[in-house]
Amino acid sequence: MSSSIEEIVSVVGATRIGERQASISWILTDSRSLCFPEETLFFALKAKRNDGHKYIPELYARGVYNFVVAEVPEEMKNCTDVNFLVVGNVLKALQRLAGKHREQYQVPVIGITGSNGKTVVKEWLYQLLSPDKRIIRSPRSYNSQIGVPLSVWMMDEHTELGIFEAGISEMGEMETLEPIIRPTIGVLTNIGGAHQENFSSLQDKCMEKLLLFKECDVIVYNGDNELIRDCVSKSLFTAREIAWSMKDPERPLFIEKIEKDAAGTTIKYRYLGFFKEFRIPYIDDASIENSLHCLAVALYLMVPTEVIAERMAHLEPVAMRLEVKEGKNGCVLINDSYNSDFASLDIALDFMARRSEDKARRRTLILSDILETGQPGKLLYRQVAELVHSRGVDRLIGVGEEISASSSRFDVKEKQFFLTTEELMASGVLETLRNDIVLIKGARAFHFDAVSDFLELKVHETILEINLNALVDNLNYYRNKLKPETKLMCMVKASAYGAGPFEVAKTLEEHRVDYLAVAVADEGADLRKAGITCPIVIMNPEATAFKTMFAYRLEPNIYGFPILEEMIKAAEREGVSNFPIHIKIDTGMHRLGFSPHQDMQRLVERLHRQSAVIPRSVFSHLAGSDSERFDAFTRKQIETFEAAAAELQAGFGVKILRHVCNTAGIERYPGAQFDMVRLGIGLYGIDPFTNHILHNVSTLKTTILQIHDIPADETVGYSRKGVLYRDSRIATIPIGYADGLNRHLGNGHAYCLVNGKKAPYVGNICMDVCMIDVTDIDCKEGDKAIIFGDDLPVTVLAEALGTIPYEILTSVSNRVKRVYFQG
Ligand SMILES: *Cc1c(COP(=O)(O)O)cnc(C)c1O
Repeated sequence: MSSSIEEIVSVVGATRIGERQASISWILTDSRSLCFPEETLFFALKAKRNDGHKYIPELYARGVYNFVVAEVPEEMKNCTDVNFLVVGNVLKALQRLAGKHREQYQVPVIGITGSNGKTVVKEWLYQLLSPDKRIIRSPRSYNSQIGVPLSVWMMDEHTELGIFEAGISEMGEMETLEPIIRPTIGVLTNIGGAHQENFSSLQDKCMEKLLLFKECDVIVYNGDNELIRDCVSKSLFTAREIAWSMKDPERPLFIEKIEKDAAGTTIKYRYLGFFKEFRIPYIDDASIENSLHCLAVALYLMVPTEVIAERMAHLEPVAMRLEVKEGKNGCVLINDSYNSDFASLDIALDFMARRSEDKARRRTLILSDILETGQPGKLLYRQVAELVHSRGVDRLIGVGEEISASSSRFDVKEKQFFLTTEELMASGVLETLRNDIVLIKGARAFHFDAVSDFLELKVHETILEINLNALVDNLNYYRNKLKPETKLMCMVKASAYGAGPFEVAKTLEEHRVDYLAVAVADEGADLRKAGITCPIVIMNPEATAFKTMFAYRLEPNIYGFPILEEMIKAAEREGVSNFPIHIKIDTGMHRLGFSPHQDMQRLVERLHRQSAVIPRSVFSHLAGSDSERFDAFTRKQIETFEAAAAELQAGFGVKILRHVCNTAGIERYPGAQFDMVRLGIGLYGIDPFTNHILHNVSTLKTTILQIHDIPADETVGYSRKGVLYRDSRIATIPIGYADGLNRHLGNGHAYCLVNGKKAPYVGNICMDVCMIDVTDIDCKEGDKAIIFGDDLPVTVLAEALGTIPYEILTSVSNRVKRVYFQG
């Protein structure tokens, strides 16, 4: 599908500058994702701290000639071969274009909103309906003010059904998304506390979400949820309602019975007077609820009940995620073997391209046939080949008949093709991957799990899962509290508070934070070696490591005269001049720093008598910004800092950045942002003031190794500490104090979660394993145990131990593998 530039000009109401002939197939909002320059229209969006206009010259140099802008950049004014579409509001133009695009298609569109489960419901609906229909759906969680237009733009004349998610974080946003998605079928998954900060009540949030369904023919929701029921009736929709209920037999879809067993759940229901049942291979309540939403939609779309039952029984877990894992032989694996369509291939390749600044790594793509696209094969594989080429893939391993038939189209350094996954596995080719960055992307039918299983480095069964999207949500939460000009330093010390430094730093760098900070020089050097280019501050520089700092451009915190002298000496010896340093002032923490009262003049004078180093910033650290009790003290610290910083600045012509706020300071002292703030724990999801979780980033999980039935009066573990007072089922999990599970949590002082239920630690925690009581929990060997995560916040463990969440997060030992995903 392509549109002429003239049509677009008229749809978005732009003033056109330039007369270049153009037809547009791709729209782009992030310059890093460019792929097909000639047919791309770039929307120069302005965010609070980034401006798409900045990237126009670079995009032009890369062959993009069509731009929607608020103003034509100065340096582009003389370009005659470019179309500028000048509009008042670039985001609105993007949204209007998508809305107009949507209008062309008279097909059913499912719009999904709600606090949780949107992506699962979307993907399950896709699994249930895609065998019969050509479906376009939002890639991953493209559900925002920008993501929704980009998703809807993917609809074309082959589309028979659209499934789009809409996520909002403040009032007014749904009104914009509704005409873009224009759903005919609305699904409200549920309403919870996530993203609550911009809504005055849950009711407000629910009413706002329901605006999506203004023009729907039918609305699906949980009729047992009073809040939702009240809001729906207040909204005065004329649409038909399928409110399913487990309690009210009068409802159109009545859920009669839910029976869980070890392998799944059987659900009996009554719809239009008929009694039917189906089964899903899950037993948790969230999955059951999600399946009921899907059931309602499928019934409404008149999918035969036997077909529903057949497909429900095979619902695949939604791994809507790109997992990054350590592979054998030094490889890095990006696993995306759950769906395969063109859009998700594009996203995954883009993800790989951005991860591999490290040019030494060969980029290998293992790709199966792309099924279920409804597109003629020739055209499809031509596009795939173009994409593979433009995203810089070095080696392609293709699996399947279709991709093999198109082998000659692929222009890569190395390529191999196999008809089946078994053939690939038997070929020995996988053994030849060394230090590659490998993207594994296969349609479900190809069972690429076998490929990723083979390539994965097997270690411990205990993993720390890091949700990079949640990290970005937290970043944005705090950014929203900053003045537009305030710079942001992110603390990635202590392996990014335990989350693991590289992926976190890469993600932060992609989101254009101004500085990263680590504790010691080696941490900084490791980040540089991994390709991080953003400025890095070393908080506790060792005098022995100045050479490393010069070599890798790591800027030290200088907190006293002796270390300053060593630094100057080292710089002079290495012939370094004007190396940036950061001056720390002790305003009351009494940890490190120059005296604000005695040292400033002497410091200015000393700095004037040399040219090896130059003060880039001046800062101090607050001792009690998270507590109201210390407000007077904190204000005094800030005042002292401001005066000392002024004294230092007076000695220099160049601007010296000032910063004092940590996470709690950002939240509680908006007047003390100065030129920069230092965000730490908040990034990792913990609000240090309220102890609430913003968006949970880290989940520590493991797997049940063995379960024993043990009679009352026996004991469990060392020193016979775990006395059983009843006949019990005791599960053993492979995590112990050497993994960072504090031994004081043992003997019932805390619990983990098994299938959503609390399983207390029994007896003493051992070095590598521990035992938990699962007597009252329906579970089996191989089931997961969550040590902390979404439903068991680290704050609970911190409280049980009388410590702070920081200590829990940073205690997870290095032998626990970190697995990253974008949710
Ligand atoms: C760790 C640290 C921070 C971040 O503190 P949070 O409470 O995690 O936000 C800020 N500044 C300095 C100097 C630090 O050492």
